[in-house]
Amino acid sequence: MNNEFNTLQEFDAGKGREGFFHSLPELEKQGVGKISHLPISIRIVLESVLRNCDGKKVRREDVETLANWNGKKPANEEIPFVVARIVLQDFTGVPLVVDLAAMRSAVKRLAGDPKIIEPLVPVDLVVDHSVQVDFFGSAQALRLNLEMEFKRNRERYQFLKWGQQAFKTFQLIPPGIGIVHQVNLEYLAKGVLSQKSEVGGQKSEIFYPDTLVGTDSHTTMINGLGVVGWGVGGIEAEAGMLGQPVYFLTPEVVGVHLTGKLREGVTATDLVLHITQMLRAQKVVGKFVEFYGEGAASLPVPDRATIGNMSPEYGATIGYFPVDQESVNYLRATGRSDEQCAAFENYFRAQKMFGMPRQGEIDYSVDLQLDLGQVQPGVAGPKRPQDRINLPDLGQTFRSLLQQPIKDGGYGKENVDLSTRHLVQLNGSAPDDGDMPGIDPGEELNKAEMVTNRPTPDRAKDMKGADLFRHGESKIGHGSVLIAAITSCTNTSNPSVMLAAGLLAKKAVERGLRVDPAVKTSLAPGSRVVSDYLTKTGLQTYLDQLGFNLVGYGCTTCIGNSGPLHPKIEKAIHDHDLIAASVLSGNRNFEARVHQNIKANFLMSPPLVVAFALAGRVDLDLTKEPIGKDKDGKETFLRDLWPSLTEVRDAMQSALAPEVFRKLYRDFADQNPKWNEIPASTGDIYQWDEKSDYIHEPPFFQDFSMKAGKIENIVGARALGIFGDSVTTDHISPAGAIKASSPAGRYLISRGIEPTDFNSYGSRRGNDLVMTRGTFANVRIKNLMVPGTEGGITKYYGKPDVAAAVSGRRSGNPAAETAAATTGEQMSIYEAAMKYQKDNVPLVILAGTEYGTGSSRDWAAKGTRLLGVKAVVASSFERIHRSNLVGMGVLPLQFAEGTNAQTLKLDGSETFSITGLSDAIEPGMTVTLKIERANGKSDSVPVRLRIDTAIEVDYYRHGGILQFVLRQLLAKA
Ligand code: SF4
Repeated sequence: MNNEFNTLQEFDAGKGREGFFHSLPELEKQGVGKISHLPISIRIVLESVLRNCDGKKVRREDVETLANWNGKKPANEEIPFVVARIVLQDFTGVPLVVDLAAMRSAVKRLAGDPKIIEPLVPVDLVVDHSVQVDFFGSAQALRLNLEMEFKRNRERYQFLKWGQQAFKTFQLIPPGIGIVHQVNLEYLAKGVLSQKSEVGGQKSEIFYPDTLVGTDSHTTMINGLGVVGWGVGGIEAEAGMLGQPVYFLTPEVVGVHLTGKLREGVTATDLVLHITQMLRAQKVVGKFVEFYGEGAASLPVPDRATIGNMSPEYGATIGYFPVDQESVNYLRATGRSDEQCAAFENYFRAQKMFGMPRQGEIDYSVDLQLDLGQVQPGVAGPKRPQDRINLPDLGQTFRSLLQQPIKDGGYGKENVDLSTRHLVQLNGSAPDDGDMPGIDPGEELNKAEMVTNRPTPDRAKDMKGADLFRHGESKIGHGSVLIAAITSCTNTSNPSVMLAAGLLAKKAVERGLRVDPAVKTSLAPGSRVVSDYLTKTGLQTYLDQLGFNLVGYGCTTCIGNSGPLHPKIEKAIHDHDLIAASVLSGNRNFEARVHQNIKANFLMSPPLVVAFALAGRVDLDLTKEPIGKDKDGKETFLRDLWPSLTEVRDAMQSALAPEVFRKLYRDFADQNPKWNEIPASTGDIYQWDEKSDYIHEPPFFQDFSMKAGKIENIVGARALGIFGDSVTTDHISPAGAIKASSPAGRYLISRGIEPTDFNSYGSRRGNDLVMTRGTFANVRIKNLMVPGTEGGITKYYGKPDVAAAVSGRRSGNPAAETAAATTGEQMSIYEAAMKYQKDNVPLVILAGTEYGTGSSRDWAAKGTRLLGVKAVVASSFERIHRSNLVGMGVLPLQFAEGTNAQTLKLDGSETFSITGLSDAIEPGMTVTLKIERANGKSDSVPVRLRIDTAIEVDYYRHGGILQFVLRQLLAKA
């Protein structure tokens, strides 16, 4: 056990348990820093740095630097953060398990014991991202959607089942149980963890705070429970899994002092939308945010978690709430054991980190104030989560946005008559249905398949007779609500807003109000606990009567899996160019995220989702205008339906029952017959199936040997792409649809797969053959080597004369330089890369500022490597993508200020060499980029190595982090 600073101390962990911990108060006593004034979130990271300080992976200087954190001027240093555990969702988790499986195969080829490949920290993968709302508004919706999900994802699930039995530290939560962050909050998080160890020759238990990273941006939700954690890309998660630190730059910490209390009628969702708007304006991107003060203490953990969840929307790395009695109460109420609760409380007390800090006790980088009493009911949208609108202003805002020019963020509709409505008959011939005749239920399914792009003959046959849509007649126009979804762990983890939705539904049903058949209604909670309390309180039945039947326990509409709209509705939107609306309790509403044909998307609390479903439109002021007419034809207003705080509190009595959590989170695999039906291979080694187009062994460990290569100059490279500023990871590795004409599409067709069954790049991340072909294949990426084009196109210039490139002169044999070498041959990036690979020609990418911005995506770096790119030279890099490139053995280099591909007049016909590279490279050193032009002239410019730390030099030398770790594990075995 590391004890570099002599801080290991004994403490009473409660319930008769004695243990040790790395004492931060002791570290302060030794004069290492003024730790008791540090933000609590920084102290938790400091504890990890202190506990893992071994002089190599984590150095003494790392502890000293962080212990002396200066909020006003944080050190420009990377913090090596070794996290306690990892959480994954299925979209991003599958490729990680594929890599682990590939590492085991590599060990076996080297005649080693494959079991040495095992996550070194606990890993939990929750399958939640794959369920889509195909069926809704019926008691069968849950079962039918689950059946569809299993059909679509069978190969991936088979593979995951193998992983579940192969790795000891890997736990899998099957589909139909819940959403990753809600499951984390209600079940996985422990608050404090412990590990058996030896202290002074005696067996003992070392306690440490629960910390994590997850491969999903809303991992931040767990900060509501006092657990530090955030979303990272797959490669960092992989590093964390294998015991490597996750590196991040010392952050500023913004303290938000909360005072007062939320007013009657104001929900936690209203609060988080207010905070999102407020903190976006304060520019908290890349910073920690810590909430404190008596207002923070008054918020229950589910409200804190809702606020923590939306950190990516306000831009912060985390939105943290310190641990207090409320946190312990939540653990207890959700069925965690008495021992766990006692250890949690006692540990934080021993560290002097228990209780909500008061103003002045902590030194933050920036101090902000928020009086909770000032928060008003509102919604956010129609395109960004930070664009909050007070509820009374929604109608007016929508009307003005409708007319506002597109360049100003509006919809550019001049002289619109909002009262125009178009008749759609949803169960027979509609007057405007043209070539879409009336459809019977069986045929309806086929139409829907056209929309979802995912038909299978089986599906139509098996499900013939099941209704995808509600029937009836409707009139729709601009501002019509066509999707109303109670979705997203942001809100479904919060019983107060879920019960409020149920109570509002009850009052509406009792008054005889109904939801228009054109509105696609859905309820997708993040755990089965929600169904338990909605059933116990009798509220689910009212939600059902309004069409908010359960559709699944997963992300659904929040991730854009809202499923098809009725074809006649789609047609009406298209024919009349309607600006239709969705209302959802999610956290993101960028255009086309919720549904490709719905342009106005408003985030709001679950009760408001029900209210707007009833109103059927967003162009109104629900605080003044009626929501509809009751059974007697009397106008009904939102105020008539809105539940009081007392009503919500009364219903809450049955919401948090520890025994329910214990029951529902026990043996969940056994409670899932569909999951149990999936056959899975067993054994330590995965039997790769060449027939599978979802799971394929990646070539990262082909020809793997124990000896790391030498770092050498890159000579005679060609440019694969020259890009401008702000190329995103989605440009580099798109997640969405696969075009039939793209290299990935052509490949899938060659494998006998119809375009309708392509599924998305996101779902094929377990197959490098698809993902490599998809790299730089975004239809919007602009390669400046081929001006005027979009998509993954480049120019192929053939094999350069390396001798000439090295000596700085042309070969003197122009005949040897083919036509391709002077004018370039236009082809796909993938095709060109493969031709270059055949000739052993290294490749480079040249780019502008913020290269690799956007969400962290491991395939953006993996695909780059597999195309044969050896270096990316950019004006600047997004932090995570830069480290991912190093992690995959691709060299990031930065142009000097004022230099870029344009100032150097590069067009891609050049030959490039990078000199100054050797085993002796130092982080951040300057090397030389030599440019040999087609006209025989050459230039040399300095470029900075963006290998930023000593450990990254090791990663690069080994050809990437996976190879580095694999060699270490094999050496130890
Ligand atoms: S529900 Fe939404 S926020 Fe939650 S994990 Fe799913 S996609 Fe992310």
